[in-house]
Amino acid sequence: MSQDPKARIVTTRFAPSPNGHLHLGHAYAAICAHDFARAHGGRFLLRIEDIDGTRSRPEFVGGILADMQWLGLCFDGDVIFQSARVDSYRQALEQLHAMGLVYKCICTRGDIAAAIQAKAVRHGPDGPVYPGTCRGRDVPADKPYCWRLDMGKALDRAGPIGWTDLIAGDQFGDAAQFGDIVLWRKDAPASYHLAATLDDAADEITYIVRGKDLFAYTAVHRLLQNLLGLLQPAYWHHELFCDDNGEKLAKSRSSAALSALRAGGRDGKEIAQMLRSGKLPLGISLSNS
Ligand code: GLU
Repeated sequence: MSQDPKARIVTTRFAPSPNGHLHLGHAYAAICAHDFARAHGGRFLLRIEDIDGTRSRPEFVGGILADMQWLGLCFDGDVIFQSARVDSYRQALEQLHAMGLVYKCICTRGDIAAAIQAKAVRHGPDGPVYPGTCRGRDVPADKPYCWRLDMGKALDRAGPIGWTDLIAGDQFGDAAQFGDIVLWRKDAPASYHLAATLDDAADEITYIVRGKDLFAYTAVHRLLQNLLGLLQPAYWHHELFCDDNGEKLAKSRSSAALSALRAGGRDGKEIAQMLRSGKLPLGISLSNS
């Protein structure tokens, strides 16, 4: 299959995690992905990222489906659930293991905090970078462990990381800034990075439409695509919404939940039109960062 997204049927996806109520920022992400696909006669998929057993709750899935309908957004095919695809994530981990690019890490949060105190470490977009304590060491068999990517080896193997963003243009991503990221968690199967990257390839997504808050992670996702020989999509990282205090909307702060607007009798299609036209409802604004 061609690696050029322009040579394939335009396919986008909305990929919410069912760990809370969707807010207007999610609605905007879904609208961007939906409208882009429809404008190009393409496909728009809905993927529920439900592998985080500690935070995902089935009852939020029904809310997501109701929100989509309320906004007037139809998706193609069946709803995709990450929880049904864990075998494919495991196979990819085994492939990376066979390539010598992953290692077991038994460090607890406390171990990592202590190691960071003890020696100066780099800071990446997600905070202090894992100091590599378990890299190259035999770990005791009876301890819970996660799998980390050996970032140095992975980058040597993959070569330069480049990708195209429809707004920001051609990018040379810096995956090294994240250090040895977790690919398989102690408390859940695959990490977001591994699962989302594999799913986007399996579903032949040509344009990944998502918020700017995920921009830096794209270098990691492109790295995994290179290592695993996956399809390489293009990206559109759209603007984020902020509340009256200038803070990014977040489920954790119960920002303007769509379910509350729905229950309050607001017209979802009208709200969707407001978001499209930039006449933003309810005291929110687009960030320019
Ligand atoms: N599940 C992610 C979220 O809810 C979306 C990730 C993506 O679009 O790549 O933020």
